[in-house]
This record gives sequence, structure tokens and C-alpha cells, in this order.
Amino acid sequence: MAPQAHAEYDVVCLGSGAAGLTAAIAAHELGLSVLVVEKSSKIGGVAAISGGQAWIPANHLAEEAGIEDSVENAVAYLMWIGGGLGDEARARHYCTYARQAVRFLADHAGLAWQIVPVADDYHGHPEARHSLGPGRLLEVELFPGSSLGAAQSFTRHGPERITASEVYTVAPPEAEIEARRERDERGHGGSLLGSLVKNVLERGIDVWRDAPATELLVADGRVSGVRATHEGSVVEVAARRGVVVATGGYDSSAADRASFDADHAVSTSSLPSVTGDHFRLAGRLGARVAAPFRLPHNFHLPGVPVIRDADGVVQRDASIVRSAAMHAVVVNRRGRRFADETTSASRDAGLFAVDVHEPWKFANNPCWAVWDAQHVARYLDPEAMQTPGIVSAQSLKELAVAAGIDPDGLEEEIARFNANVALGTDPDFGRGSPNAGHIHGGDRSGAEESTLGTIEQPPFHAVRLVQTTMGLPHAGLVTDGFGRVLDWDDVPIEGLYAAGGSVAFLEFGLNYTPGNANARSLLQGFCAGSHLGSSAGHP
Ligand SMILES: Cc1cc2nc3c(=O)[nH]c(=O)nc-3n(C[C@H](O)[C@H](O)[C@H](O)COP(=O)(O)OP(=O)(O)OC[C@H]3O[C@@H](n4cnc5c(N)ncnc54)[C@H](O)[C@@H]3O)c2cc1C
Repeated sequence: MAPQAHAEYDVVCLGSGAAGLTAAIAAHELGLSVLVVEKSSKIGGVAAISGGQAWIPANHLAEEAGIEDSVENAVAYLMWIGGGLGDEARARHYCTYARQAVRFLADHAGLAWQIVPVADDYHGHPEARHSLGPGRLLEVELFPGSSLGAAQSFTRHGPERITASEVYTVAPPEAEIEARRERDERGHGGSLLGSLVKNVLERGIDVWRDAPATELLVADGRVSGVRATHEGSVVEVAARRGVVVATGGYDSSAADRASFDADHAVSTSSLPSVTGDHFRLAGRLGARVAAPFRLPHNFHLPGVPVIRDADGVVQRDASIVRSAAMHAVVVNRRGRRFADETTSASRDAGLFAVDVHEPWKFANNPCWAVWDAQHVARYLDPEAMQTPGIVSAQSLKELAVAAGIDPDGLEEEIARFNANVALGTDPDFGRGSPNAGHIHGGDRSGAEESTLGTIEQPPFHAVRLVQTTMGLPHAGLVTDGFGRVLDWDDVPIEGLYAAGGSVAFLEFGLNYTPGNANARSLLQGFCAGSHLGSSAGHP
């Protein structure tokens, strides 16, 4: 269709997530005019409904707090947890620029960062080489939604009214949470994105909503702009310096998932508008696409079911049972556990194991969470127990039959688990060992045994778990250190940049550490915006 309108800016950012908005702020800071085009009706992207945490090694807050850390140690940690498969140069780029991006956003965009206490590096502190206790995981303090003015209603956020710091230490009383809800104080990703949106608006950066970018424009051998729909018209927007593709991953594109992921995820807690548009926009210009080998961290184990808000957008993953918490386990159809339920790497590895007895099947998929009355009393409100799909019974055997699990296997497994819990150990999978699992389950006292609890008090309950993508793709475009999109000869496509979930996760290898996704959106947006704003690029 012929364009019905024209507009002109220095930079156009596609997508209003953490990556697109950070790129916009960085470019604007250097004096450029910027437009953000957002496909959905709300600003904020996936980070707005995320946990909001960002893994930022050797950051300025840690330094001020006297926490010893270094870029080199952080690179070594990433390489260790990635099984040596990560791209070391890219890991170093991450560790170098994440701290700079966070500092920049504190100094120039007013983001009120704080260290998330208690939160050790995820994968096995102290045995993971160069892992650190609290210091690397940051979040933004509680954010007043009312400070957004007219944008309050269309800036996306999740339901959380508390910070991760409060979750990991002492949660405020329900009355306080209710008061925050009334005042529209936002926690988790809502505070990170609320803060970015506020700064974007204060700077007078234009943001178009309901404005999907449909095509990149090319003139004189470089990307010169973008075609988008806006207010019912097709608009051609010239981008004098360049275009930043920050359209996120491909969670809501079944075709892209089938192309890149050897999986069968059936649910997503990402957004319906995250449909791999970067592949189609940049692919037509010869952009390289990489799909590095990585365990599928877009699987989220306790993910049943997903709650959606009025416009169909996921508000949160309603994990009705916290399988990392006491008195709950996850079992396969044979009734056997297959992982340390508290550790994502262990769970995800288990999910992809092929059954040695029936090699044409996955050994641990489907799988079920199983819990007892003690778990209900400790963690669940009555409403959660009304979730469709939960089966309940007075005995483990009856429960297994009702759920479709092998009854003898389940009974034996739980008896064995209980006997080990009594000894304070899990010799099979190391649950309760000194890793960060206690943060995500148990009573959060920090005690090592706090994720271990017997399953013995009827009624017993089970629910089949749904594998869920979480805005953590592995495949994506390939960029250089400035965020420029590379072609199949590794030559930058002039005027084309990418950041965040649209960029292949090449830096981590086999595994990653929580907070990496938000952090790379921030740092890659920062690098792209900075390079667009300065002809020299970074030192
Ligand atoms: C429940 C949940 C919890 C999470 N918690 C964490 C966490 O605590 N820490 C962490 O590091 N990561 C977390 N993540 C992952 C992380 O939030 C995402 O990887 C990250 O936010 C991606 O940011 P982005 O800016 O690259 O893309 P997105 O946030 O996906 O933004 C892309 C935006 O582009 C828009 N768009 C798409 N196509 C077009 C188009 N054609 N034109 C214009 N706009 C378009 C989309 O509508 C969207 O708004 C979580 C994810 C989920 C779902």
C-alpha cells in the first residue's frame, strides 16, 4: 500500500521494551531526535511484566557497598555456567557494558537501582567458579505509576506491588500491598519499565502505539527508515541515522518456534505481539540469523495456567504450586523425580532427557507437580486450589491413578524422598544443597534445608505442568559490539541496529543466569543508541 503520510527523525526504535526505550534514551542523550514505534496498545514490552531483575556484574552500587567483583570474574562465571560454549568476547562485552548502561540510566534517566539482597548468583554458589553472593542482581525501587500522567493507563506492568528485595527478605503486610495497589505503586518489571517510560516522556521522545513496523526502507545502500502503520494510515518514517530493531523474541510465533526450538512449548508468559518480526524485517536485507545451542530456558516449569488481563495479555504465570518450595516435588509419568526442582538448569536438562526405556519418548515430559496438605497450609490460598486441572486424593496411589502417573512408582518415590528429607538430604539431585534454590522456594529463611519437606499429609494434589516460554529466545539476529546488524559475511548492514531479545543469545552457551535477559536488553540498547549518537562509537 502506498504511504499516506511521512515523518522524519534521526533514529527510529522498533519496540518499546527495555531494549527499544534504552536505545531511545541513549540516542536522545546525544542530541538525536527519536521516534519509538510500538506494535501493541501498551508501552513497556515483556520487561514490564518480568521479574524486573537485571544481572549487572561489577556495578557501581556493589562497588559503593564494598562488594568485590570484576569484569574478568564475571566473564569466567558466565563461561563456567555456559559449559564453555558461550562466545567469550560477547560475554566480556556484556560484562563491560551492562555496568555502564546501568550507571548511565541512573545518572541520565533517574533510574533508582538497588541491590537485591539475599540473591546469590543462581547456579550453585559457592561451587560455580567466580559466582558471587548478593551484589550482581539489581532492580529498580518501587515506582509510582501516577507519576506517568496520561501514560499511566497505557504503560504496561505486572500485578506485583512489591520489590524482589521484599520477596527475598520480608514481604510487607497485605494491608500495605493493598494500599500500594490503590496508589498504583509498581514493583518488579513495572518499576523498571515505568521508570524508563517516564524518562522517555520527560525527554519528549515520541512514542507511537498500535504502530507495527512492517518494512525497513533502504536508500543509497543503507537502511533509511521504516514503514509502519499509525492511526489507521501507512506512514513512511525516515531515519537519518538509523533504525534499532528491538521487537523482542518470537514467543508468540508458532512458525518461528517450530523453526528454531526443538521443543513443544504450548504456552507463553510473554506478549501476543512478540512474533519474531525482526526476522522478517531484517531477514529481507540479508541479516545473519544464529540459533546457538542452549538449553531451553524459555521453558518455565510451574506454569499452570497463565492469567491474562482484559486485553488478553499475560499478567503473570499463576504458579499455583511452587515446586521449589517445601512439601512439593515434580515427577514424570513413572512417578519419578528427575531434577533438583529448585534449580532451572537441573529442571530444564531433565525435561530434554530421552527415555532410555522408550527412546521415542521424552523421559520427563509430561510431568506433574505433586504436593500435600502441608504445602497448601504453608503457601497456597484457597483460590489457587480452585485452579482447573488440579486433581486431589486421600492417598498417593489414588492421586496417581487420577492424574495418569504410575501409582507404584509415585508411592515408592515419595517414600524415598520422605526418608531422605528426614535425614536432611536429597542424594538423588542435591536439592537443598548450598545453591540459590532456597531463594526461590522454601521459607526464604536462607536455611539450606528450607526447600526440603516431606509429602505425607493427605489430601494429596497433582497438576500437569505446562511448558511456557518467557521472552528468552535463543535464536536471533547477530550484531557487532556497537549493536550493528551483521549480514552473512559479518559485514554491518549500514543504518541497521538490533538489541535485546531480537539478538541471538550467543554470549552464554549452554546456560545463563537469571537477570541476563533484562540486562542484555539494557546494555545492547545503550550500545546501539550511543553508537548512533556518536560517529566514533565507544572507546
Ligand atoms: C514472566 C516473565 C518474567 C521475566 N523475568 C525476568 C527477570 O526477572 N530478569 C530478566 O533478565 N529477564 C526476565 N524475563 C525476560 C525479559 O523480560 C525479556 O527477555 C526482555 O524484557 C526482552 O526485552 P526486549 O526489549 O528485547 O523485548 P520485549 O520486551 O519483548 O519488547 C519488544 C516490543 O516490541 C514490540 N513489537 C513487536 N513487533 C513489533 C513491530 N513489528 N513493530 C513495533 N513494535 C513491535 C512488542 O509489542 C514489544 O512491546 C522475564 C520474562 C517473563 C515473560
